[in-house]
Amino acid sequence: MSENVKEISREKSAALYAKAQTYFPGGVNSPVRAFKSVYGVPLFIKKGDGAYLWDADDNQFIDFCGSWGPLILGHNHPAVREKVIEVMQNGMSFGAPTALENELAELILSNNPFIEKIRFVSSGTEAVMSAIRLARGYTKRDKILKFEGCYHGHSDSLLVKAGSGLVTFGETSSAGVPKSFADETIVIALNDKEALVKAFEDFKDQIAAVIIEPVPANNGLLLQHKEFLQYLREICTANGTLLIFDEVISGFRVSFTGAAGYYQIKPDILTYGKIIGGGLPVGAYGASAQIMSNVSPEGPVYQAGTLSGNPVAMAAGIAQISELLKPGFYEDLSVKTEAFINDITAFVNERNYPVNLTRIGSIFWFAFDAKETIRKAEDIDPQSMSKFKQMHFELLNRGVYFGPSGYEVGFVSAAHTTAILDKAKQAIFDSLEVIF
Ligand code: PLP
Repeated sequence: MSENVKEISREKSAALYAKAQTYFPGGVNSPVRAFKSVYGVPLFIKKGDGAYLWDADDNQFIDFCGSWGPLILGHNHPAVREKVIEVMQNGMSFGAPTALENELAELILSNNPFIEKIRFVSSGTEAVMSAIRLARGYTKRDKILKFEGCYHGHSDSLLVKAGSGLVTFGETSSAGVPKSFADETIVIALNDKEALVKAFEDFKDQIAAVIIEPVPANNGLLLQHKEFLQYLREICTANGTLLIFDEVISGFRVSFTGAAGYYQIKPDILTYGKIIGGGLPVGAYGASAQIMSNVSPEGPVYQAGTLSGNPVAMAAGIAQISELLKPGFYEDLSVKTEAFINDITAFVNERNYPVNLTRIGSIFWFAFDAKETIRKAEDIDPQSMSKFKQMHFELLNRGVYFGPSGYEVGFVSAAHTTAILDKAKQAIFDSLEVIF
């Protein structure tokens, strides 16, 4: 750390973390929050407003985590807050249909040519788990194919990792996942057409669905060639396999219609989360009316939820989604992010720092030690994460908050003004100068 920058105080966060460890495994309710891959105790957050976060010790940060993606308008956006407060006056949950569900569905379906019907759930995990069940019920097949490095939530059959990039199965990434579940999941490397063809040969007429994050953003930002995604579409169609785009991150982020709209590729089932709930717990899956007619109570594929379509969560979604439909929203966000990332790229290139920045829309990622764009999980050198760890520490001390892992992407929100981005850029330059 350079001399004139003081290390932030974490006294109150440390005390809260100590208490939390007596309540929760590892002191947290979701693992990455524990700051295991970066320095120091996790910061306990007290408040968020616009592009800023404040922690328990009153440190202020420009936030690029955005609650891991949902906050595309920034923290505590007045339109979202006001709508939530208005709806809460009438009660929190009824377990019965409300007009708010229709309203959010209408906003989405009338602006999205890729789905005709939608089902609201309460998380991205639930959305994907239900989409997989729907694909299996629809095709009457059991196997699914996923890609190494793509995260689809923590349901059993998706917690499976690949071996060396060839077709592998039966190996799980979590204790507690039965081998028999993992056996139904085929894992191959991203951006690998040959492995894909081989998997369809090896498991002919057995694959219910191929699931992919069309913008893989959970293991770095592993941007795929459009041709690869198009080929996925073709091979699925040719084999009677459904193509699922998991757009829990990319949905409403890279465009209103997500990556499907961005790349103009029509999957069979789409899953959403994060942004769709405006910061409250909402997930969703959608497809053609014909495929969705298989979902209970219309069809035989069961799926339900006590808090599904919760009115307060719907209100937050309606308010946030309405803002995204305003003309120029995505263009402004993308232009702003592009300028920010281009300036940092110019800075690292000028100094020959081994850093490669990747961006799509308002999502970005710092790869350390990359000569070219990384498109496969196995091409990330785990050693390079030590540089991220140093940068993360330097950035916190300079008032910039990144998600606490080098495998996580950053998000720019509409609340990040050019002046705020300039400030963050300077902190990034100073931090990189210290670590290289
Ligand atoms: N799918 C993707 C692509 C995700 O990024 C995530 C979460 O980060 C999920 C599914 C799971 O969503 P949730 O954490 O809301 O259960």
